[in-house]
Amino acid sequence: MATPIPSDRSEGPIGDFKAPYTPAQAMAEANRCLYCADAPCVTACPTHIDIPQFIRKITTGNVEGSARTIFEANILGMSCARVCPVEVLCVGACVYNHMGRPPIQIGKLQRHSTDVAFEKGWRYFSAGPDTGRSVGLVGAGPASLACAHELRRLGHACTIYERKPVAGGLNTTGVAPYKMKADRSLVEVDWVLAIGGIEVKTGVAIGTDLSWSDLEARHDALFLGFGLGPDRLMGVPGEKLPGIEGAVDFIERMKLGTVDLAGVRRALVVGGGNTALDGVRELVRLGVPEVSLVYRGSEPVMPGYDHEWDAAKIEGVRAYWRTVPVAYEGGARVERARCVHLDEGKRPVAGSEHGLPADLVLVAIGQSTLGTLAAELPGIEVEAGCVRRDENGATGRPGVFAGGDGANGGREVVNAVAEGKIAAGAIHRWLESADHS
Ligand SMILES: Cc1cc2nc3c(=O)[nH]c(=O)nc-3n(C[C@H](O)[C@H](O)[C@H](O)COP(=O)(O)OP(=O)(O)OC[C@H]3O[C@@H](n4cnc5c(N)ncnc54)[C@H](O)[C@@H]3O)c2cc1C
Ligand code: SF4
Repeated sequence: MATPIPSDRSEGPIGDFKAPYTPAQAMAEANRCLYCADAPCVTACPTHIDIPQFIRKITTGNVEGSARTIFEANILGMSCARVCPVEVLCVGACVYNHMGRPPIQIGKLQRHSTDVAFEKGWRYFSAGPDTGRSVGLVGAGPASLACAHELRRLGHACTIYERKPVAGGLNTTGVAPYKMKADRSLVEVDWVLAIGGIEVKTGVAIGTDLSWSDLEARHDALFLGFGLGPDRLMGVPGEKLPGIEGAVDFIERMKLGTVDLAGVRRALVVGGGNTALDGVRELVRLGVPEVSLVYRGSEPVMPGYDHEWDAAKIEGVRAYWRTVPVAYEGGARVERARCVHLDEGKRPVAGSEHGLPADLVLVAIGQSTLGTLAAELPGIEVEAGCVRRDENGATGRPGVFAGGDGANGGREVVNAVAEGKIAAGAIHRWLESADHS
């Protein structure tokens, strides 16, 4: 179902930041694994892939079986191998870290097995016997894709509604191109859909193009996997000047189309989270000569991952700490951010106002939430902008389940996959139970 995306996309020339293993390198790295009992790397993985088992299968030349072990636990194992912050998950938990030796490169080994499986076209899963039940899923991101795949294995028909023209959610439109490009995400979407019986209707926004009540009337159960909303902006004077935009919006344009950076010499990225860190690293790769982070806190409290910031510093990014824009100035486009320093209590320091020259500003202070979207369905509760659900994904409305960023507030792809899969189990149990029919 892959929607063609332009081949001259701005993300195109950006290379992989971690080169893939050759078969010999994968074999050598796999042979270092200690196959720990109660392996901490498995516990650290939200989808609990049996890591020692998939690694052991590489050492015996059974790459097909290795990939099966991965996909059984995580059907998006190919993209997770590329985009997971393994430094704080499986690799960070590897026992070698406590032995003063380099941890096993689990992500690269997982990439090796899953890439070979994709190349060879190995198929592992088939749909279960038709149950006659149908599930509607809102959003075609990792949460819904994982949920729908699991539901198909259990025999339920699935329709995914996606407001954008492409499927894959932020895996397609958001993750940094040096981890994975949009076309690779779409290859994975096709791979997931190859199980058959999952219809993806792109260009359909639930709540606008199709009402919630119509959606409910069409299906026996629903899964809400609609993620987060547009970038939040700061609302300061001048923020609407050309050359200032939300980071997620900018990244999506770079991944699916083109961004014009001609004449951009100095870029500021406002924020200190992982989207801000992706933003600065992407701008460096797109050739912007001076890229700086503007963050209201100090370096130790920055929420973005340390390993990403360390890499950004090596790539030449600088930072203005305890600094916040209060206005932007310019003519035909932005020329300057007027900023103030903040004290320990995040209060502006008197007399600290100063200008930072900028031809481009990306605002990366977080995405808005979409929880209220579904609140017109009685029983759905919204907490901190997210859909409230229990540990199995069940919301307060019978037959409606939720998972991924729209429910957890924004985590990682692997969390969305885990939550989608857990919710599929709960949806199955609910459909099989007699009390709602
Ligand atoms: C810039 C950026 C970079 C990231 N990089 C990484 C990374 O490197 N590694 C990592 O693990 N995680 C990363 N993440 C986080 C990760 O992408 C998300 O946690 C994950 O995609 C969440 O999956 P999801 O399915 O819940 O939501 P999404 O991927 O957001 O998918 C939700 C889908 O629902 C659709 N939708 C919304 N409203 C409606 C509606 N009304 N009707 C129909 N469809 C709707 C949206 O268009 C979207 O396609 C990144 C996030 C951002 C913003
Ligand atoms: S913790 Fe490290 S050595 Fe132990 S099984 Fe996991 S990857 Fe192998």
